[in-house]
Formats: sequence, structure tokens, C-alpha cells
Amino acid sequence: MPPRFYLTTAIDYVNSRPHLGTAYEKITADAIARYKRLAGFETWFVMGNDEHSQNVYRKAREEGLDPLAYCDRMEAEFRSAWALLDISFDDFIRTTEPRHRAAVQDMVRRIAARGDVYEGFYEGWYCVGCEAFKQEKDLVDGKCPLHSTVEWIKEKNHFFRLSAYRDALLAHITAHPQFIEPEARRNEIVKLLESGLDDISISRAGQAWGIPLPHDPSSVVYVWFDALINYAAAVGLGTDDAKLAKWWPANLHVIGKDITRFHTVIWPAMLMSAGLALPDQVFGHGFVSVDGQRMSKSLGNVIHPEELVARFGVDPVRLYLLKEITYGGDGDFSWTRMHERYNVDLANNLGNLVSRIAAMAEKYRGGTVAPAEAPGRLAAVAASAVADYRAAMDAFALESGAAAAFRIVDAANEYIAETEPWALARDPAKAGRLSQVLFDVAEAVRVAAILLLPFIPRSAAEILRRVGGGAADRAHLDHAAWRNDGDRLILKGDALWPRMERTTVSEQPPTTNPLPPSPGVTPESPKPAAGQDTRISIDDFLKIDLRVAKVLAAEKVPNSRKLMKLSIDVGTEQRTLVAGIAEAYEPEQLVGKTVGVVFNLKPAKLMGIESNGMILAASPEGGKPVLVAFDGDIAPGSRIK
Ligand SMILES: [Zn+2]
Repeated sequence: MPPRFYLTTAIDYVNSRPHLGTAYEKITADAIARYKRLAGFETWFVMGNDEHSQNVYRKAREEGLDPLAYCDRMEAEFRSAWALLDISFDDFIRTTEPRHRAAVQDMVRRIAARGDVYEGFYEGWYCVGCEAFKQEKDLVDGKCPLHSTVEWIKEKNHFFRLSAYRDALLAHITAHPQFIEPEARRNEIVKLLESGLDDISISRAGQAWGIPLPHDPSSVVYVWFDALINYAAAVGLGTDDAKLAKWWPANLHVIGKDITRFHTVIWPAMLMSAGLALPDQVFGHGFVSVDGQRMSKSLGNVIHPEELVARFGVDPVRLYLLKEITYGGDGDFSWTRMHERYNVDLANNLGNLVSRIAAMAEKYRGGTVAPAEAPGRLAAVAASAVADYRAAMDAFALESGAAAAFRIVDAANEYIAETEPWALARDPAKAGRLSQVLFDVAEAVRVAAILLLPFIPRSAAEILRRVGGGAADRAHLDHAAWRNDGDRLILKGDALWPRMERTTVSEQPPTTNPLPPSPGVTPESPKPAAGQDTRISIDDFLKIDLRVAKVLAAEKVPNSRKLMKLSIDVGTEQRTLVAGIAEAYEPEQLVGKTVGVVFNLKPAKLMGIESNGMILAASPEGGKPVLVAFDGDIAPGSRIK
């Protein structure tokens, strides 16, 4: 029997639509679920909605709706957002469902039977926004820091003897440090436990919306106590013992870092009291800010998944969130950076590779490639990337998993540049070599696409189809092992990610200034009149001082799509120049490169930066500039003539 893996995300309050933050959590959990399935685990992935909130009740009433009808409508909203993002959950639980109610009542009975529930009075602060009891120390200027409100309540409540579990919780965390990840969250919780634990209220009196307490139906179960139980309810607690035996305990709860305490203190104590096993791990992910600011309604910067998907497509959005943010840490989203990563990772890199192999396979081998020799160096690159990928994904280092897959993509693009299939094609004696190079590139794309299935599921499946991968490749990671056999039918198709140009005003080069003397943005030279002799004398040519230079530093010019600011060593001095090569090169590709420059060009100001000199690059019609390179090492300052 295959090993099983049960994972959950936090269930969402339904008082607002899903936004980038909720989407981030679901996308990361989805990537983990897809990876586990690919790695051969029988996987169960549960998400859901948290409906017994007073906020939900109020919101429904405001809209003149029955709360359940309101929740039904919100369920449709959430499900459609998750469908748009290709979230592959196996089950979706709502806390108003009968199976959840049965589980909550079962849990409370178990805990009460253990003697861990007692009656008392609660008197203190409560924030309806947080749906949480607050202590004086949690308040700022007497208010909840998040909701600016808090109310004093005094009511008869039922309490859970949480304090009795402090030592057992500390012992559990010590024995199973992986129970709380990442480590920073674990340290916070250990500190909290060491400072002592109070019992908690688990009921609210006089509320109509919620699950009645079995032994006191005049009270409902406190919404947080209720919500946590969904993880066990979804796999049969109180309704299906066989299912519970199969899936409980969960392997992983994916949650936001702000609710770590509920999941790593209250929830495990509830489980201990109820005689149920504890989940293997609670992973508290970080938050996604927008342009460095917390996303909030009041700032008006809330982004909804449908806006993102409409602009970039689902997979580019998924890849950005998974690859650009270290899982467990906080991350940032910006439209500019999203745009940039789309072009760099997908349009120029992966998408371009897929188009090139299809075009070359068709041109040189009629669309079918087959190995003719031993594989080249890409096989070793792929094997090491697959090993790194497995290690990263097993540790939920999702960003490293994505980076490992892209190492194969980068290497395949470099391999094409290095082996020059177009040159091999001109020499009949190199036919075998050409076949092998094409096969190796196609095989590298196949392997990379398998690794990318959890990240960009639709596109990766399409890429597999185009390079001759079958259903088995989509089904198991073992198929990512390099194969040097068989014919591969390589299919051409539309560009997966057409390059996107920016159209905002700030991105347009200023039209009042003279155009910069740089490749890519140089105006066309005037066409000579017919019959006119356009040749120049050697003396004329020698007026142009061309020199070798070395790039010391490079950075993109802010608000410009094409311009790159370079600091170069020209042998006798260091200079700053601005070149129109930012669409073709990343700054890190340029540092250390030896380039040719026009040394004696008059300075020009570009986007406020004084540019001293001009870098030499070929500027193919309709293509991106390619820097002139040297055949061997040469010292900066050497004359070119
Ligand atoms: Zn609050």
C-alpha cells in the first residue's frame, strides 16, 4: 500500500471574498499536495469555510439573508476562486455541515468525559473582528490593534482545562521539533508555553449562530474551538470510524503565521484530552504584502485572484508566489515584479525553450527526435536537479524546488547556445551528434516539465504533451529519471507565454530628449540615397575609439523597460554608461562580462543618468540585442580596430 499523506489549509471566514493572501496559502498547499501525489503518496487534501462566526451572522443579517443562504453564496465564490487557481482539493468542508456538527459534539463529549471541561464565568475583553478573547496586554490604547474595537463581556462560559496540558505540549515539541515549522514559529510557541497557560473559554452564551454544546444547549461552541475540529471532522470524526482510522492524524496543517498559537497550543491540547493523535506538522507560512505594504481594505490595495489571472494567466501567478517567496517567510507582490518574472522565467526562458526545440526538431528531423549517441552533459545536470528538487520539496522549501526545475531549463538553453545545432546541421558528418543534441534538449524539457507539475500544472502538462511525454510522466516523479531511448514526436504549438510589453506612461522612453545612443533604442540611421558612395576612409574609421571593457556592476534603470546602468572598467578608469539591453540581459548576467565599447562618444543624459560611451551589440531586426563577445580573455582598455 502506498504511504498516505493528509494535509489541510486553514478554513476561511466567509465575510469577505478570497484575496491574494488567502490565495497564497491555498496555492502553496496545492503545490505540496500535487508534489505528494507525484511522489507516490495516497494524498487527501482538505480545505473549507469557517461559517459560525458572529461576523458572518451580522453580515448576512445586514444583507437581509438567512445566514446559511449567505454562506451558500460565499461557498460558490470561494469554490470559483479555487477553481480558477487550479487548487486540487479532495474535499471541501463547511462548518455548518451535519458531519462537522457531529464531530464537534463528539470532541466536546470526549473532552468533558476526561474531566477537562468546567463551568465558570468569563469576564473580559472580546474582539468580534478577531472572534477572540483578549487580554489587557493584547490591546493598544484599549482597542484591538487590528479592528479598533473590543467589547467587555461577562457571561457564563464553559472552560477547557488548557493549563493542564502545558507540560505535555512542551514535551511533545521537544521530542518532535518538526511539529512546528518554520523554526521561528516554534521558538515563539515554546516561549509562550514556558511563560504559562491559562484555561480558555470554549463557549458563548446566548448566541443563536453556532453548534450547541451537548451538555448545555443554551450555549454554542466558541467559533475557534469549533473551527479547529474541521480537520478531524473532514476525515470522519464522529461519523466514520474507518475513514478516521485511515487518515487521522493529519500529516500537515498549512496555516498563516498569525494563527500558529491556535494550532500548536489549543488544538494539540484538545486532541490530547480527546485521546486522539497529534498531527505531524503545523507549518505557519508568512504574509504577502503588496508593494511593501500590508494588504488592507482601508489602503485600497487588496488584490483578488481573478484580476491577476485575467492579466497573466493562472500558472504565471502560481509560479511567482511559489518561486519568488521563501516558503515560511514573508513575501511581497508587485505588478512590476510580476511582469518582470513573467517575461524572464516564462516568456524568455521556459516558453522560448519549448518553442525552440519544437522548431529545431521540425526543421532538422521532421519533428521526431531519437538518440544516436550517449547523452551529453544535460543528463547529469538533470539528475542533480531532480535530487535537489526531491530534498527541497520534502522539506516544503517550495522556492528551492522551483529553482531546481529551472536549473534544467537554464542549462538546456545554454546547451543550445553551446552546441549550435544550426552549425551541426550544415555538416553531414555530424548528423548523429545533431540528433543527440536535439534529443537531449527535448529530454531535459520533459524532465523539467515533470518537476514543474506541482507549480504550473496546466502548462507543465501541455509542455509534456509537446515533447512526447505520456500520462505516466504526469503520474509519477520516478519518470523524471533521464531516458536515452525511444523516438520522441515533438509538437509545435502557440507560444505558451507571449512576451508582455509594459504600456504604462512611465515606461515609455521620453520623446522630448534625443534618443539614447544605445543598442535597442538607437533610431534608424538615415538611408543613403541610391548610388551614393557610403564607404569611409580608414582615417575616418580610426576616429572612433573602440575599446575592451569589463562590466563591474549593472542595475536596471528604474521606470525604464530597456535601459540598464552599467559601471565599467575601461583600463584607465571606471565609467558609467547606460545601455538599452535590459530586455535581453539580467544584471547578474552582465557583471564580470568583457564587452566592447565606443570610448570617445560624447556624454549623453538618459533618464537623468550621464552615459559615457556606448556598448557594442548586434541588434537583429525585431529581436533583442546581443552583446559583442571576444574569442578569449583580453584586458580592459585594449583597443579594438
Ligand atoms: Zn480584533
